[in-house]
Amino acid sequence: MDYQSILQEIADETRPLLSQGKVADYIPALAEVDPLQFGISLTLFDGTEYSVGSTDTLFSIQSISKVFTFTLALKFYSTAIYERIGREPSGNPFNSLVQLEYEHGIPRNPFINAGAINVTDALHSHYGEMADTFEEIVGFIRAVAGEPSITCNKTVAHSEMEHGFRNMALANLMKSFHNLDNNVEKVVQTYFRHCAIEMDTKMLSRSMLYLANHGIDPITGTVHITPQQAKRINAVMLTCGHYDASGDFAFHVGLPGKSGVGGGIVAVIPKLMGLAVWSPGLNAQGNSLAGTKALELFTTKTGLSIF
Ligand code: GLN
Repeated sequence: MDYQSILQEIADETRPLLSQGKVADYIPALAEVDPLQFGISLTLFDGTEYSVGSTDTLFSIQSISKVFTFTLALKFYSTAIYERIGREPSGNPFNSLVQLEYEHGIPRNPFINAGAINVTDALHSHYGEMADTFEEIVGFIRAVAGEPSITCNKTVAHSEMEHGFRNMALANLMKSFHNLDNNVEKVVQTYFRHCAIEMDTKMLSRSMLYLANHGIDPITGTVHITPQQAKRINAVMLTCGHYDASGDFAFHVGLPGKSGVGGGIVAVIPKLMGLAVWSPGLNAQGNSLAGTKALELFTTKTGLSIF
């Protein structure tokens, strides 16, 4: 298949949409990003990569980081992780407090904010007081992306912490239900730091290969997780990866995917490739507007959805 031409067509067809999205401004440091940017990359199992647009530009991966933290939590806790978080779509915005109160501090899934903060707490407990949990997380991301330079943008992390009242509220609510074991501030700080990690679409598409290949990195041969765990992560990406627009994403794109408010989206084509798209303008549910359309065009043009 001529992937390069297909990606170019997609970039051309989505251009009119770039001005329609709205950049996330609840994190002031993200509000400054130029919304008219677009990049799309795919990486095959032998490392061959195809890219069009701003694919070397680093951006804030935000909630895409939750795929990696959930991977680590499943690896260390296996199914015991489900004693503290669910795996059902929330049908609610990513930062909603209401459902968490009704459901006694057990977040619906690991991809809404409460769930991801809870996962970060579990990782703090696993690594222990003496370790730097953020460094462990970023170390894993560097390994799956094959890129040792990956790091977090301190300005963005700081900006999130300064305005993170809602996330602090979610964490405190879980603590009040005895579903958060470590210091609230410390956990939320680590959460913001992993959200503020910066990558480009090339690195992100490469980082999805272990999920496309039953938990094994097809390039290095490293076994990250079991095939069963990879299956579960893909399933939760499909059902919960886009918050209250997860059904819409499955309907239009038909792939396991995960978005972030930095405008990035990753997607997995099982047994074939990792995909990543970036465009900072978001739709009403906080997912990249042009990015979602680009992935829809990709599965339509190639016939490569999972359905
Ligand atoms: N760091 C962001 C937050 O906590 C992540 C949200 C997102 O990407 N959807 O609000």
